Amino acid sequence: MRKEFLVFGKPAIEEAEIAEVVDSLRSGWIGSGPKVQRFEQMLGEYVGESEVRCVSSCTAALFLAMKTLGIGAGHEVIIPAMTFVASANAVEHTGAKAILVDVDPETGLIDLDAAEAAITPRTKAIMPVHLWGLPVEMDRVNSIRDRCGIEIIEDAAHALGAEWNGRPIGSFDNLTAYSFYVNKNITTIEGGALVARDSGTATRIEQLALHGLSAGAWQRFSDAGFKHYEATEPGYKFNMTDVQAALGIHQLPRLDRWIDRRAEIWDSYDRDLADLPLTLPAAVPDHVRHARHIYQVRLRPDAGLTRDQLLEELHRRNIGTGVHYRGVHLHPYYRDRDGIDPSSLPNATEISETTLSLPLHSLLTEKDRVDVVEALQEILAQPQRGRRSA
Ligand SMILES: *Cc1c(COP(=O)(O)O)cnc(C)c1O
Repeated sequence: MRKEFLVFGKPAIEEAEIAEVVDSLRSGWIGSGPKVQRFEQMLGEYVGESEVRCVSSCTAALFLAMKTLGIGAGHEVIIPAMTFVASANAVEHTGAKAILVDVDPETGLIDLDAAEAAITPRTKAIMPVHLWGLPVEMDRVNSIRDRCGIEIIEDAAHALGAEWNGRPIGSFDNLTAYSFYVNKNITTIEGGALVARDSGTATRIEQLALHGLSAGAWQRFSDAGFKHYEATEPGYKFNMTDVQAALGIHQLPRLDRWIDRRAEIWDSYDRDLADLPLTLPAAVPDHVRHARHIYQVRLRPDAGLTRDQLLEELHRRNIGTGVHYRGVHLHPYYRDRDGIDPSSLPNATEISETTLSLPLHSLLTEKDRVDVVEALQEILAQPQRGRRSA
């Protein structure tokens, strides 16, 4: 058994990031400034869209995306029940209501037929989530957008680096939000970005993220000369700092390499876990590049123990795991407010109760990975289960 605890996710911070942070600290410019602008440009080049704006989190990016679309009280935004609760919370913050729909039983992605069927006169947008790094079928998403005249806000917290039909997620003419939280594929500790489609929206995002002021702090205080600023609306405080961007500008160039490494670990897990009573992640279709953010398996009923027992057994063997996710509809706020019967969202409920995520990050060693496999084999092997129940 492993001696030290294997953490589920681990950020890969190298010397370049550390030096860049120190450079920001020494420069005196620690707030939003040139490094944020550089990171935005790099992200723009990476996703093939020039209008990218960085903010303090993906939750803030999703929220601001909806604000710029005029979404608020009296409106509805359709989201998958199987996602991180932040997707729903961002909708609620605008005053609109998050309408939860079920997901595909195999991929776990939003059921687009259910989403289309849930559209009402109050519906302003659908928020598909590229869950686990697997892109949603973008032709179908955009066809609903164009046929029904509603907006699409893509929650791409897991999907920086993902592609659909050879095009990066973020380049499909929607507002697309990324996360750089500590355990995402790249990190700025806390941070997010929004692909804004056009420069008008980008400017609006910038202003809303900084008190609603007419000119950003960087322009105001740079050596371009003093400029008066005006609040054109009561904005928020969602700007990213240069210290955070200092991490991002060195993380992003490594993302493709890291995704390739994650894919290797992924394929090895697929191979080594095939005989266990687990449903492995859905096969990756040829027309997508999966960002390989989360490797989740589902415990089958014939395994002879519950998912939570399995989590505990793994923990006892020093293997860290995650649960992605407990469905939004199972969180008390959403469940009780809307009186949702879990059986009305059967696939999201089933995934919530059976899923667990295995350690997957660019620093995971082959020994770490084998430790995970062996722990699972030991816990799930038939003879062992027989002994335990005897
Ligand atoms: C992490 C995550 C978010 C929120 O990201 P933050 O940057 O922490 O706000 C939103 N949606 C999904 C699916 C996530 O996994």
